[in-house]
Amino acid sequence: MPTSLKQQKTEPAISLRGISKSYDGRAVLHDLWLDVEPGEFLAIVGPSGSGKTTVMRLIGGFEAPERGRVFIAGEDVTALPAERRKVNTVFQSYALFPHLSVLENVAYGPRMQGASRRQRQDKARQFLDLVRLPDAALRRPQELSGGMQQRVALARALANDPTVLLLDEPLGALDRKLRDEMQRELRRVQAELGATFIYVTHDQDEAFGMADRLAVMRAGRLEQVGTPGEVYDAPANAWVALFLGSANTFRARLERRATPNLLAADFGPITAGYVADELGAGDLALVAVRPEATTFEPVDPQAAPAPNRIAARLVDVVTIGPSIRQRAVTSGGQAFESVTHRDGEASFVPALGDAVHVRFSPQAVRAYRDEPTH
Ligand code: ADP
Ligand code: MG
Repeated sequence: MPTSLKQQKTEPAISLRGISKSYDGRAVLHDLWLDVEPGEFLAIVGPSGSGKTTVMRLIGGFEAPERGRVFIAGEDVTALPAERRKVNTVFQSYALFPHLSVLENVAYGPRMQGASRRQRQDKARQFLDLVRLPDAALRRPQELSGGMQQRVALARALANDPTVLLLDEPLGALDRKLRDEMQRELRRVQAELGATFIYVTHDQDEAFGMADRLAVMRAGRLEQVGTPGEVYDAPANAWVALFLGSANTFRARLERRATPNLLAADFGPITAGYVADELGAGDLALVAVRPEATTFEPVDPQAAPAPNRIAARLVDVVTIGPSIRQRAVTSGGQAFESVTHRDGEASFVPALGDAVHVRFSPQAVRAYRDEPTH
């Protein structure tokens, strides 16, 4: 991108500023702040009930916040009803017009925008092709399966040329193969339109595979917003680390801040590349290390004790396609998982019951405030 364009200050496509919301006196969103850039693909992930759909409904204008403002392209739309906001929404439950054919459903937006009969039918057919439903054009929605209706709803939203499209688990009802196809197509259409997509999904692979950034929600709060690499490699807290993938976790006391930081666990000294700011010397931390960053090595009886080298015994080995998942447990009962790739080379493969050393580099070790993680 030319520098002149890059430096142009554009308003966020969507800006949530201090949004709070409750239902029946129960707070479901707490002081949410979020900017989504024009042309960005943002995925919202989080457990069921964490408030993802409520965020979408607030942006779409189907709910009003109790506190805070919603901006679309720099305009405060907090008081505007849904039909006056320049966003399109595809919800889990697709409200198609039952008395119109599939083609007419998809052509509805272009018709409202004054497109000619020819133009809108061409456009509707183009998007029905995209969602792999070219033969359903003349049928009624209720003659189609749930998954097909969902794809019609998607085609209808896309045919509006939306600058902002809100998608709430739009592929949830589809089988794996179709979902993979649709993920690629959606990403392609989004790039072609230059549209801003906000995409709610409970499928993390989908979020990691499609999104420019992920917003991670937990119980009505945004725990972290960042690129897939940022949220996976540098989770903001232990809960995010465990929610996005898996992690070896254990408790250790912070001894001193240094490079690297030093902690003491029951089973030996630990050095950590990252220690949360709020932790001081003497505090108990919850330490997390990804299984991909954890390796098991043969025990060297000559070796002096060293940080991040933990004596354990191999208790389980599972080979899943190209990866090997091994599990070892210390004498004190602390379990560690290691995931490595079978790369053809003769790497160390211990037998069940063998003594091993669990190893990880300090850079892979992150120490967080100790808190419940589920
Ligand atoms: P998610 O989409 O992440 O599963 P939701 O946004 O649907 O979560 O819901 C967040 C919380 O708000 C849940 O506890 C849910 O029960 C509650 N909730 C959502 N909509 C309503 C409503 N219309 N009335 C009362 N409670 C609601
Ligand atoms: Mg939902």
